[in-house]
Amino acid sequence: MDSPFQRRAFLGCGAAAAAGLLASHWSEAAEAASPGSYLEPAREVPIVADSDVVVCGAGPAGVAAAIAAARAGARTHLIEVNGCLGGIWTAGLLSWILDAGNKPGLMREILAELDRRKASVAYGSSIGYDVEQMKRLLEELCLEAGVAIRLHTRVVAAHCDETRRLRLLVTESKSGREAWTAKVFVDASGDGDLAAEAGCKFDYGREGSGETQPMSMLALLTGIKVDEVAPMVNHLVPGQSGKKNLLAEMERAGVSPSYSGPSLFYLHHDLYCLMSNHEYGVSALDAGAISEATLRARAEIHKQIEALRALGKPWTDVQIVATAEHIGVREGRRILGRYQVSTKDLVEGARHDDAVCRVGFGVDVHSPNPQETKGIRPEGVRAKAYDIPYRALVARDVHGLLMAGRCISGDFIAHSSYRVTGNAVAMGEAAGVAAALAAASDRLPHDVPWSEICGRRDSLARP
Ligand SMILES: Cc1cc2nc3c(=O)[nH]c(=O)nc-3n(C[C@H](O)[C@H](O)[C@H](O)COP(=O)(O)OP(=O)(O)OC[C@H]3O[C@@H](n4cnc5c(N)ncnc54)[C@H](O)[C@@H]3O)c2cc1C
Repeated sequence: MDSPFQRRAFLGCGAAAAAGLLASHWSEAAEAASPGSYLEPAREVPIVADSDVVVCGAGPAGVAAAIAAARAGARTHLIEVNGCLGGIWTAGLLSWILDAGNKPGLMREILAELDRRKASVAYGSSIGYDVEQMKRLLEELCLEAGVAIRLHTRVVAAHCDETRRLRLLVTESKSGREAWTAKVFVDASGDGDLAAEAGCKFDYGREGSGETQPMSMLALLTGIKVDEVAPMVNHLVPGQSGKKNLLAEMERAGVSPSYSGPSLFYLHHDLYCLMSNHEYGVSALDAGAISEATLRARAEIHKQIEALRALGKPWTDVQIVATAEHIGVREGRRILGRYQVSTKDLVEGARHDDAVCRVGFGVDVHSPNPQETKGIRPEGVRAKAYDIPYRALVARDVHGLLMAGRCISGDFIAHSSYRVTGNAVAMGEAAGVAAALAAASDRLPHDVPWSEICGRRDSLARP
């Protein structure tokens, strides 16, 4: 490699030659590319790590996958584009965990630790938590397990060998373009970025129409006294609909929220989480549209809070602590697996021998169409508790790849139910253990029997 001195010399003396080289690349690339595009020259990319398991995305599913894989003995890398672990839990300010009650293992461990740190509050089977405490806890758990964490880094490409086995992924970051090899990969990116780059087929949106649930930006609020707003808070006063009461209050303040079920969650002391916005028809795969939705959503939340403050008591001192760094994306790609969780599974309460977890959360479709309703759209599907089989986490079209979280294999209705974070953690935990076992024994994930994964997972569980 050139020394910095040599490089400076090249820039100084060889600038004209370099400019000539660039110009010839430019004209060759311009000629070879189709109109309106640019043919990027090939370049060498350094392989920066060779691991047993690489996990893409550090949301609830990815963090769980990485911890489980590392605890099961795998050399594990966790790659995340945000500056913190947790995905929607932290960068998204979610503050609310659903469907966690019947999830043992890591989910129970995280809840117990939040409770020990006085950073959570239970409302039946739902749990409110302190976002900042969650950030730190996830970092501690990953580091303690020996997970190598890479933040500020986006997975942008993937390469399979001739047997369709995923061998390598490529990232972009301040360090430039880097390649990472591993024996097994886990896609926990929420949107299925890694699997799509590797060539997996996927579903997106509702079958037929392609419509997707709206995005929502979350915010943390302070400066409100709980006894003064209690009827407007979700799950606080029995017999009261917090959503209806808050909607009426916002309308009294002269604002009509884009989500007609605005929800205020009480976390602790005077900290609240607000979900009061819907961004309709925004593709999770279109950065321009997501940017516009982010700006619109943030402006709407500020407008709502200013209007409430102008009402005076009980809102006189209300303040926005933070709006989410990342707008909440309800759905992205659903990568095709060796099993697809279906609406029929929900209706029948499916049971599987390779059940990763049992989903207790029902169908929850936020209306994709504001002309129909700006709230929850009734889908006429009554869900019974159902199992997610391990096969729904194993990629169908590419070997050596598992999915966990909201990008697993399922249909539109099923996804609206299993996507909540209690399930995402359970899926991540199973995928992480499976990946570690496959890597340690040179098997592909679909060759590892569920009984072995399940046994290893349960042996790792902490009391
Ligand atoms: C507005 C909203 C409200 C919700 N309400 C609730 C609720 O109250 N309770 C509940 O339990 N669930 C709720 N959900 C559902 C739940 O939050 C998600 O389905 C959940 O986040 C799934 O976890 P995940 O780990 O699969 O995805 P995510 O949390 O989305 O995590 C994916 C991670 O991957 C990273 N990533 C993405 N692409 C790349 C890439 N190419 N390279 C590197 N990193 C990448 C992201 O930055 C992110 O950190 C809600 C969702 C939304 C959007």
